[in-house]
Amino acid sequence: MPSVAESAPADIEDIAIPANARGYIAVRGRVVYIATGKENDVLVRNYLSALMRQRVDFEKKFVSVAEIAKITETSQTRVTHTFTERDCIDLIKKAVDTQASDIHIHNHMNSSSSTILFRVNGSLREIMELSFDDGQSLCRTFYGPLASVKDTEWQPSEFQDARVAGRSWFPEGVYSLRIASTPTDDGSRMVIRVLYDVTSAAKQEVSGIEALKSLGFADIHIDAFQEMMGRPSGMNIFSGPTGSGKSTTIKYELERVMRRHPDLHLITVEDPPEYPIHNATQIPLSGVMSRSSSGRKEGYSDRIRASMRLDPDLMMIGEVRDGASAKAAIEAAQTGHKVWTTLHANNAWDILDRYESLLEDVGIHNSRSLLANISNVSGLIAQRLVRKICPDCSIPIEDAIRENRMHEDTLAQLEAVFDDMNAHNIRVRGDGCNTCQGHLPVDERRKDPNRGISGRTVVAESIAPDFELMEMYRREGPGEAKRFWAEERGSKTYIRHAIEKIRDGFVDPESAITVVGDLTWDYTQQD
Ligand SMILES: [Zn+2]
Repeated sequence: MPSVAESAPADIEDIAIPANARGYIAVRGRVVYIATGKENDVLVRNYLSALMRQRVDFEKKFVSVAEIAKITETSQTRVTHTFTERDCIDLIKKAVDTQASDIHIHNHMNSSSSTILFRVNGSLREIMELSFDDGQSLCRTFYGPLASVKDTEWQPSEFQDARVAGRSWFPEGVYSLRIASTPTDDGSRMVIRVLYDVTSAAKQEVSGIEALKSLGFADIHIDAFQEMMGRPSGMNIFSGPTGSGKSTTIKYELERVMRRHPDLHLITVEDPPEYPIHNATQIPLSGVMSRSSSGRKEGYSDRIRASMRLDPDLMMIGEVRDGASAKAAIEAAQTGHKVWTTLHANNAWDILDRYESLLEDVGIHNSRSLLANISNVSGLIAQRLVRKICPDCSIPIEDAIRENRMHEDTLAQLEAVFDDMNAHNIRVRGDGCNTCQGHLPVDERRKDPNRGISGRTVVAESIAPDFELMEMYRREGPGEAKRFWAEERGSKTYIRHAIEKIRDGFVDPESAITVVGDLTWDYTQQD
């Protein structure tokens, strides 16, 4: 980013050439070229004195007007290109240093400015402001020279996707970048998701079950995962909104399976691959990325079918996102494969409803008995990520109430779910300390939305369906099956899991409510 420090000499690019003088001034490297005969022109003199005032190191040369035009043309492409590419890389390094999951670039035409924000632990924070042109040029470079899989050029007025993978300049721990861009009412917004390879087996300090526990899963979920793994075939379907950590869970789980069964062949079909999975054959959809959205749908389900001919034992399908991929995934399970995949649904039970309606879209009616078959569906999981409290500055709830820190509605919910709040170790986030904010300069700490927070943890629900449960689902419908699962089997919802983490002082009540919704809500009691 161009910046002129007060004491240091400026860079030559920081001093703009006056617009009306572009025909007879050009800059390349540290040389200022001036058209012969223009040395006393007022604009030239103003420009040269600005350079001297800013103590820029430069050299003058006099050339013809034709030569000025040639230099302007070549130096512009060269300068803007390399200048912003370096900036993109610096920006990614800065994001990785703060463990940001996303970089947002919001270009506002009305205020002719551009805002850069980082998402850290789920919260967005403004990092810097640029001119509209610099913001646009940053987007163009992220999308253009840096991206490996993309449509064409960056177009601020189009919805676009791209990917940057396997670059030597990636900071340690980064696997790939996923870029999405959209037009807005006054410009455009680009979001760059940083995909970290923090979970790779080689880098993991813990593995297998311990790794799943470190994400925040409880014993009840681990037992369900074990059962799912023991089934010879069927789909394990994970749900949760974007950014709820489901890809990370799947990666941990698949690496655990592959370590125990190195003789099995795992194929992944993803758009694009999010994480490297040790020992897997990972198939990207890059070949069909550039087609229209209907072409992409066909390409996706075709790729799933094609990979079934590559002799897999286990398959991971990035996402069931339409009727065609829903049909292809269940076909893989019906032909005896174990399949891991994701689908957008509100909770683990809603996965079945959602799956039914996707199959309906491709003319498969009454698919309930197909899904109630435990050879086809072996696991249903829903998860969210909630923010953990920094233990070193957290505050006991009694103190927070006394200091009037609690939102009325939050307190009402806590009182409804806990008979006696003082009987537990409920804590709320504090005002920040060296443990949770040590990485930030002191003057930035107060406005940091993550003060008092140290990372995130999973809250989840898992169903490893058995014959009895699925028979109930098939014959009596989801309402009865949910109640039976919660009451007779003692299973718990992800909201219940969040309540337990609040009770034990791991999770901030207010932040948890933002993610899981009303703590008093129990969907297993609804039809
Ligand atoms: Zn702290």
